[in-house]
Amino acid sequence: MKCPSCGSRRVERRPPSQISPHPGYHCRNCGLLMRGRGMLFLYLIVLAVGCGFFGLFVFFLARGEVALWQIGTAPIVGAICAVYSVRQLMRPLPRRTRDDEDDDD
Ligand SMILES: [Zn+2]
Repeated sequence: MKCPSCGSRRVERRPPSQISPHPGYHCRNCGLLMRGRGMLFLYLIVLAVGCGFFGLFVFFLARGEVALWQIGTAPIVGAICAVYSVRQLMRPLPRRTRDDEDDDD
């Protein structure tokens, strides 16, 4: 596959991160980060769940039914997941080339 920014073929798959098993691709020529093909739906779900967690937290907190210490890290994890998804969704996709073979998305 090719980099959509500089057209280089030196596009590498990025190693799995703590959040995503397939964080996407990296151009070794210009350093552009790209999202994995076929991950759109997953990131949308993660975004929805993340926003849901955070929304519930704000909702309950606003009603005064729970204290901050009772909720723990769920809203923080939710917020991190939401931000991560948005950042991934804003990244371009690598361009497909004819000789893409190890394309397992
Ligand atoms: Zn590039």
